Amino acid sequence: MVGTVTTSPVIELMDITGEKRPEADRDAKKMAQLAASLHNIAKFEVIRFPFDVTVLAEALGCEIDPGTKARTPAVVGHPFKDEFEGDVERIDVSEDLLRKGRIPVVLEACEILKGKEDLEVPIVAGVEGPADLASSICGFKPFLKWTIKKPELIKTLVSKCVDACILYSNACLDSGADAVVIADATASPDMIGPEGFKKLIKPEMIRLRDNITGHCIAHICGATDAIIPDLLDCGFNAISVEESVEDLQSIVAQAHAKNVAVIGNISAAGTLLAKNTFEVKKEAKECIQNGIDILAPGCGIAPETPLENLLAIVEARNDYLLNA
Ligand SMILES: [Zn+2]
Repeated sequence: MVGTVTTSPVIELMDITGEKRPEADRDAKKMAQLAASLHNIAKFEVIRFPFDVTVLAEALGCEIDPGTKARTPAVVGHPFKDEFEGDVERIDVSEDLLRKGRIPVVLEACEILKGKEDLEVPIVAGVEGPADLASSICGFKPFLKWTIKKPELIKTLVSKCVDACILYSNACLDSGADAVVIADATASPDMIGPEGFKKLIKPEMIRLRDNITGHCIAHICGATDAIIPDLLDCGFNAISVEESVEDLQSIVAQAHAKNVAVIGNISAAGTLLAKNTFEVKKEAKECIQNGIDILAPGCGIAPETPLENLLAIVEARNDYLLNA
């Protein structure tokens, strides 16, 4: 199977469909149309939307730069940066959250995509992970600093963020998504270390997985080798890994022993954006030979990524099957 569970806002697809961002980030019909083009035009067999990782952060009060056609939305303001302590309880994770920001847009896009009769591929809704969300709310530097200096505060904040992830994920599943992917760059061992993942994130990831009512994928950025056993303990149906992992074969073996699928891990920036179809096919073949279950970009791809390189991923799989 070939597809994507990470963000993929490709400019060429925007030009072909006429559905451009930032409008496609804020309009359910446009979002659904652009997402469907990942299958109809790029031939992916698993598609993911929305095309950024700021939806929950925006709904929880972060200030967002909506970006442009070629620039992904980004968090630029943090609601609790300067007056954080004691304020965690103010974070609203009641059902009201589902009516805030762009959440209603994403939920409607789930319904539209589910209703498309010509789209018989799994649709995956992307959700920012709890560490990403916590660092969006208080700012990245304070998050890292307080993880060490005020661990109880960060623990409470991460727990609130998990509540938000659960609520939003289940709403996506109820609205027609076949799976959700919890994507977290900040939970990476590159950011908080393997011990930080084990102590701070793992217990909350287990609670998150236990409370999500459908298929759930985890994408953690970076070289995740050291946290794979802990990540696999969390009970996700699949894990998505980047090309920066050191030993993909070992990760696949550990995952398969626990009946967990592995998604990845063609380099998004190094190969899909920067190289040609020959190089893409070469790397894709290596991924398949290393046991990848769903051939996909290792992480979110850049808007300028050539469409022919996405098509080359599907061709690589087809070539491999023909020659197998
Ligand atoms: Zn990533």
